[in-house]
Amino acid sequence: MPVLPTFADVAAAAGRLEGHAHHTPVLRSGTLDQRLDAQVFFKCENFQRMGAFKFRGAFNALSRFDAAQRKAGAIAFSSGNHAQAIALSARLLGIPAVILMPADAPQAKVDATRAYGGEVIRFDRYKQDREVLTREIAAQRGMTLIPPFDHADVIAGAGTSAKELFEEVGALDYLFVCTGGGGLLSGSALSARALSPDCKVIGVEPEAGNDAQQSLRSGSIVRIPTPQTIADGAQTQAVGELTFAIIRRDVSDILTATDAQLVEAMRFFAERMKLVVEPTGCLGLAGALHGGVPLAGKRVGVLVSGGNVDLQRYGQFLAAVA
Ligand SMILES: *Cc1c(COP(=O)(O)O)cnc(C)c1O
Repeated sequence: MPVLPTFADVAAAAGRLEGHAHHTPVLRSGTLDQRLDAQVFFKCENFQRMGAFKFRGAFNALSRFDAAQRKAGAIAFSSGNHAQAIALSARLLGIPAVILMPADAPQAKVDATRAYGGEVIRFDRYKQDREVLTREIAAQRGMTLIPPFDHADVIAGAGTSAKELFEEVGALDYLFVCTGGGGLLSGSALSARALSPDCKVIGVEPEAGNDAQQSLRSGSIVRIPTPQTIADGAQTQAVGELTFAIIRRDVSDILTATDAQLVEAMRFFAERMKLVVEPTGCLGLAGALHGGVPLAGKRVGVLVSGGNVDLQRYGQFLAAVA
């Protein structure tokens, strides 16, 4: 078992991110506090650079490259926020970056990644195994592969968001965290354990893809087919080895949310808080609202993980009858 990152690594990541990542705002909603009879603090990573918390982990990982790694560059496979996070971090640090994206990935995402300076290589996801292809290109060019969640520096970087939240608002009773492969959840748990030891950290994943919940309950990593859900940042098949070791140790529970609950949360964010939040970023709030956790009288943190949503889809979500 590789060495797990600790809160000291989160603190070191925060130092590297200083002056590069935004300290995102913590927002409140009087309406919601009244409805839940609780104090809810939203940590808004939709206002992070490139629009999601993933900038934190990517920048932290690339900052730690040695001279040879910087020269050869970084490689990642992703059609989502991790691609943009690696491309932007690499540009800021003057490092070349290659991102593998499926040939059928939305053109807008390809364009955004290129605009941040990444070299996009497209592949046929029905004919080519992206992991094999990535390793081939990495070996040919001597590039360092940065995975989206199962990497100590990515986890430590992700944990800096919850660190900022606890430092700003103090101890919490609960923290709800959007969960795909568990990088944000495990990093947040490291910060909670150090800064608010009694806080119960709760992961929330799509109901259609409850592999993390099954894994936590069974005690070993459960792999599922790619889930069908509007939460495209959480369509992971399994949590990571590192993330799962931290989740088992430091996370209280994992809940699920349906797509309908995500749309309801998205509409709440838009209507009441004037926030654009992508479906995956709504998981935390949906879990707090529908997960059956007794929140009355409690201090509750909700991590809002990102706001990158295609505007046409977003309009359809908001217009749909609830
Ligand atoms: C990647 C992502 C997640 C899931 O993060 P993991 O570390 O894989 O659990 C949640 N929300 C958004 C917006 C993301 O981009």
